[in-house]
Amino acid sequence: MKQTRTRTWAEIDLSHLEHNYRTLRAMLPQGCRFLGVVKADAYGHGAVPVARKLEVLGAEYLAVACLDEAAELRQAGIQTPILILGYTPPENVGLLLEYQLTQTVYDSTMAKALSDRAVAAGQRLNIHIKADTGMSRLGWLCGDRPAETAEKIAAVCTLPGLEAEGIYTHFANADGDEAYTMTQFTRFLDLLDALEKRGISFAIRHCAASAAVLQYPCTYLDMVRPGVALYGHYPDPSCQGLDGPGLLPVMTLKTRVASVKTVPAGTPVSYGCTHVLERDTRLAALTIGYADGLPRLCSDRLQVLVHGRPVPIVGRICMDMCMADVTGLEVVPGDEVEVFGVHLPIEEMASLAGTIQYELLCAVSPRVHRAYLDEPSEDTTHTMGRGRQDRSGDGTPGAL
Ligand SMILES: *Cc1c(COP(=O)(O)O)cnc(C)c1O
Repeated sequence: MKQTRTRTWAEIDLSHLEHNYRTLRAMLPQGCRFLGVVKADAYGHGAVPVARKLEVLGAEYLAVACLDEAAELRQAGIQTPILILGYTPPENVGLLLEYQLTQTVYDSTMAKALSDRAVAAGQRLNIHIKADTGMSRLGWLCGDRPAETAEKIAAVCTLPGLEAEGIYTHFANADGDEAYTMTQFTRFLDLLDALEKRGISFAIRHCAASAAVLQYPCTYLDMVRPGVALYGHYPDPSCQGLDGPGLLPVMTLKTRVASVKTVPAGTPVSYGCTHVLERDTRLAALTIGYADGLPRLCSDRLQVLVHGRPVPIVGRICMDMCMADVTGLEVVPGDEVEVFGVHLPIEEMASLAGTIQYELLCAVSPRVHRAYLDEPSEDTTHTMGRGRQDRSGDGTPGAL
């Protein structure tokens, strides 16, 4: 499917990514490494163009969720070290080695399987150990007995097929609960101490994702791992105070007006006839629906921007379209509409939909063309799925 700006598209402003990167980087002490999280297609922004930009800017590490996402980056020529945050089946050690990837290791059985296969291949697999200090997701549990956990981790670190370059943990509530975050951080430091006593140390110790990068410099250690902040968003809308560092949203989601007509008072709008017009209304049909990532929960709640003016979505959001009340505005088919982005915070839509901006960014669907604003046209290629490359449009708004 050739994707252009004829219908619905996401403008990705890589100069804003650069601004956010430099802003976050400036908060770090000398020598602290920067890992850019580009999982889930870089939170919907396009993993390859974003990774390329971060590589040029000097990020020391990248992170993805899984092997397929890492392979996509290597196949696109990205050479920066890549950490896989999640599960990789041990049968795939060959690919981890071939692509020179760093695998997260979080249990002893998995570690042994990975090591055996690496030894069989005559190589050592680079790994980062994951400690569970209170997220209850991946990692060795670190409660009040760090020595016991350290013993298990030490056994893994000395396996012949593994090279334990790093160790990390992840905060469960760094945007909400300082005390709990510090409890987790202390558990992590206690574990590091206990490992040190066994003669085990790591080149890269890390724990801070966006929320901790923004709020807790004491947690930076050797590397930080921001994701959402790179894309210009605060982890929790409530910490988007005036004292924020001035991050800029990278993605602006835009659509077009498909038709405009006056519909008489008393007429219902869209499926279910849930919205009955109270007055004669200029109704615009917009070329965006829930199949593009616009949550159906926003029906009759959301406002979008037409010519810089907020207009309400009326009636239910359909799969490919929705209707907006543009009464009193000069609107014609083909006009651009901002759904969220630089002028309309995605956080507002997230709160209407009862979710978080992370989910809405990731929900922008593959059929939505990504248009890269500061790249030459041959780089406006967005790789969707594995191995399939969709050539984008030339960046000019197409004819309807
Ligand atoms: C997703 C993720 C991050 C990035 O989180 P943000 O809140 O987007 O900064 C960092 N570390 C791990 C382990 C993650 O899963």
